[in-house]
Amino acid sequence: MSDHTHLPSTNAPLLEVKGLTKHFPIKGGILGREVDRVHAVDGVSFHIEAGETLGMVGESGCGKSTTGRCILRLIEPSSGEVQFNGQNVTTMGKDALREVRRDMQIIFQDPFASLNPRMTVEAIIGEALTIHKLTHSPEEYRARIVSLLETVGLNADHMKRFPHEFSGGQRQRIGIARALAVSPKLIVCDEPVSALDVSIQAQVINLLEDLQAKMGLTYLFIAHDLSVVEHISNRVAVMYLGRVVEIAPSRQLYTQPKHPYTEALLSAVPIPDPTAKKKRIVLTGDVPNPVNRPTGCHFHPRCPKATERCKVEEPQLKTVGLSHQAACHLND
Ligand code: SF4
Repeated sequence: MSDHTHLPSTNAPLLEVKGLTKHFPIKGGILGREVDRVHAVDGVSFHIEAGETLGMVGESGCGKSTTGRCILRLIEPSSGEVQFNGQNVTTMGKDALREVRRDMQIIFQDPFASLNPRMTVEAIIGEALTIHKLTHSPEEYRARIVSLLETVGLNADHMKRFPHEFSGGQRQRIGIARALAVSPKLIVCDEPVSALDVSIQAQVINLLEDLQAKMGLTYLFIAHDLSVVEHISNRVAVMYLGRVVEIAPSRQLYTQPKHPYTEALLSAVPIPDPTAKKKRIVLTGDVPNPVNRPTGCHFHPRCPKATERCKVEEPQLKTVGLSHQAACHLND
């Protein structure tokens, strides 16, 4: 078995993403040449400290899932760099990548689609144990699977069953047990509760929080809704059309947003007190096509605060407070 203890570089964040870009070519014509590009992820930079949860939020098509997949190189980035635990993931070869993927796992949105319907729960969770030779006898293998099932609130009776025999919430627990099998440091949670009933969402989020506290896990938690990430995240990054437009500690982002897009997303979050009034900011128009993005600030056609400058000049992500950055001319 290879050595699983990579030495972290001193004081460096567990994950550092620098200028990550993913463009998908659009081919056309008889020769199938590249005629255009989808700018799915366009120069995204952020870091995540060990033990921290960074929430990543935006409407569908904003590039958040592609960002998550590029970090693990399930999709190859077009450019940019991903540093994980002091290692450059973007340039490493296949063997090193296989090794580093033990430390970086992913939980998917649709637990049914991501679990092989012909495999038992035992085989699904045990697959990684076998690939990485993490157990050394049939007894140890079985005991480890039972322990993983119990960790996520399932039990040994579930081992021989198939995914279709479980509810959505239970299937997501199986996906979490599979991710935990290799004792990862970082888990990319790619909309893990979006497909679940609201009542079940809280249970899965609580489970992820408990696991983080027990195992010191680090999460990149992707969601399309700010209310989902509010309690689990230490910091939140808001994405729009392939870019991070605001990133801040959670409390600050929720109480003092510095980008009109974040304000609009926040205005849609339901508040528990029915007597409290909140003005809903309704964004007009759909998310623009990432192939033909608007000039200047990409948000300007939908922004209630847009000025003439916004149509021509692109705002850069700038520091607007302690650990708080936003890309909007209004902060100049
Ligand atoms: Fe709105 Fe202009 Fe700020 Fe963009 S730069 S978010 S269009 S005010």
